[in-house]
Amino acid sequence: MKIKTIPHKTLAEAAASKLAASLLDGSLAPGAQLPPERELMNQLGISRTTVREALKTLEENSLIESRPNVGWFARSIDESNITQAKEMAGDYVTQPSRLATNEPVTGPRRVPINPEKPLHIPNLQKDRLGTFEFISWWEREKVQQAKVLVVGAGALGNEVIKNLALMGVGHIFIIDFDNIEAANLSRSVLFRETDNHRSKAEVVAARAKSINPQIHVQYLNADVTTGLGLGIIRRMDAVIGCLDNREARLAVNRFCYWMDKPWVDGAIQELLGLMRVFVPGQGACYECTLTEQALRDLSLRYSCQLLARQNVLLGKVPTTPTIASIIGGMQSQEALKLIHDMPVEPGKVVHFNGLNNEMHTTAYNPREDCESHWTYGEITELPARAERATLEDLLKIARSDLGPDAIIELDQELVTSFECPKCHSMEKVLRPLSEITFEAGHCPTCGILREAQFTHMITGEEDFLHRTLKSVGIPQLHILRAQNGVEYRFYELTGDLAEALHFRHFEQTEPEKPLKIGPRIRLKEEVHLAEAPSNTARGRVRIVDETSPEGIKVKAAQANVRVTKKTKMKLGKHTRKNIRLTETTRSKRVSFASRQKRVKVCKI
Ligand SMILES: [Zn+2]
Ligand SMILES: [Zn+2]
Repeated sequence: MKIKTIPHKTLAEAAASKLAASLLDGSLAPGAQLPPERELMNQLGISRTTVREALKTLEENSLIESRPNVGWFARSIDESNITQAKEMAGDYVTQPSRLATNEPVTGPRRVPINPEKPLHIPNLQKDRLGTFEFISWWEREKVQQAKVLVVGAGALGNEVIKNLALMGVGHIFIIDFDNIEAANLSRSVLFRETDNHRSKAEVVAARAKSINPQIHVQYLNADVTTGLGLGIIRRMDAVIGCLDNREARLAVNRFCYWMDKPWVDGAIQELLGLMRVFVPGQGACYECTLTEQALRDLSLRYSCQLLARQNVLLGKVPTTPTIASIIGGMQSQEALKLIHDMPVEPGKVVHFNGLNNEMHTTAYNPREDCESHWTYGEITELPARAERATLEDLLKIARSDLGPDAIIELDQELVTSFECPKCHSMEKVLRPLSEITFEAGHCPTCGILREAQFTHMITGEEDFLHRTLKSVGIPQLHILRAQNGVEYRFYELTGDLAEALHFRHFEQTEPEKPLKIGPRIRLKEEVHLAEAPSNTARGRVRIVDETSPEGIKVKAAQANVRVTKKTKMKLGKHTRKNIRLTETTRSKRVSFASRQKRVKVCKI
């Protein structure tokens, strides 16, 4: 019996061997460029220094050559270097390479190791995230900085939010329009019996914060299809869909595509579940997976839409807490991978069948003509707010950029009026279709379904241009689209940012609410604080010019004023260039260097 001695090799030598073997078996063709350093690091599971050392050895043996600023290239194998190649390849050469045999990639994949990760010994007595430090790829900073949107706070949402909180994901935004009922208690770990009738989003946000007080949470009671400003998605690292209907999934899919954000979908029914990740531009998106029939069902006439919504609200899918943990667990894990920029498999679906414990993955075919495949261009941040800005204001801005033909495209149909086919009574409505119930669509006298007039374009001809964006259903921090038939422009209501996205619910200190003064300050007019602050702002107050064309700009004006519930602000002593804002109770003056009349006072 002949026993081969075990070769003593350094990591670099072993890596060089593998690469030399690839040259010999042809999987690395002569003249072909080698993968970039980063990829080699991932594939071989070694550090950058080791990769470089291996490449240097290969170069010294005339097996590869470097082209400055391009990379490394394989040299052809001939008499001059075959001996070195064989010697270096050693044992590896007998193993056929996966590339050469065209074998599909199967089995567990190596997780990339972060070579820069410093060795850190956590204090497990004090550090709740301590054990995660032992995971080679886990990066505390990334996880704590991460912003994740969870859409839906039902059975799946409960599991996902619980996991995100446990893992210390730093910023969680939760949206759901529903309230808790007794039947939710059987599969929602974060709900309690005393929570009946409370908002699901609010309750899960509060519980997430109590699971891990180090994270920051925010909730919104709204329907994701209409109530979530795109600016919120724009500022997220990942979106997790915990939804139970197609309409909402389709909306989330489009929003994420427009904002170029990855999203993780999950679906459960009885003991079956599926999980999939969609990344814009990489494989199929959610809409690609829908059949023609499903797409037709989603674009039905309004009467059916009203009914369909009704059905969505009624249609409860039977699920169990166990399948919710399985799928919710997978979703949270994929989100964690997205946060770490680790590879995911976009456009593929993982099916899990709990009846026979079978799990399989299949890829969807991306559709060329899919309507979701569109990403917004450069976004202009306006100091405007949905509550204040009117359709006319926005149209003016669009026209100054795109010319007189510019129109605004709304994301949802706006019902302008109802007309009864029987008694011919007309009712002006001006509300988004999503806010109209099936009952409201009926004539109050005849009881039959009325004809509705819709629009989703603002052309400048409308008689309701004076209406605020909020009143026609546009959410805070939304991004609106304008076009002139040739070009699109995108405008964000960035004036809403502080209020719409703060992640400070259930903090010890309450969320910072900008102290509102009335809509416009007129000279020499006494201004009352429209909305009293929940806590008194003392000390320094900042004056913000809302009409500044470059966006929100904090002017230098700062002073020691005390703003309380009863404080009245007064404008006076107006010179050509200056408006002086005087706090009446203490008569301390704040100079405000602007001729603009719109200012905002907020706490700092
Ligand atoms: Zn698609
Ligand atoms: Zn009628």
